[in-house]
Amino acid sequence: MQEALGYCLRCDKKVRVRRAGMGERVNFFLTLATLGLWLWIWVLITIVTRWRCSECEGRAACIDANEYDYLRGAVLLFYLLPWVIWSIYQLGWRLLGH
Ligand SMILES: [Zn+2]
Repeated sequence: MQEALGYCLRCDKKVRVRRAGMGERVNFFLTLATLGLWLWIWVLITIVTRWRCSECEGRAACIDANEYDYLRGAVLLFYLLPWVIWSIYQLGWRLLGH
């Protein structure tokens, strides 16, 4: 279970928000341990699990600036970049008629 500062639309105020899942530190360690493979599972978990208000259990938005979110984005970019470059290269090669 993770906890952070968030905003609940139903309560219309700042509240503590919770979501299921392991802490960022555990996920980050697993990402390193699996050479980045865990990152995809981590991203999926993040998409599936939503922040919930700790008071009314309604959907809430997390407003805590999270350093791990940026870190995760950077690692994801690092993994996507070679694929993007390779795709552009392949496309360009095809457009040249080879
Ligand atoms: Zn609420």
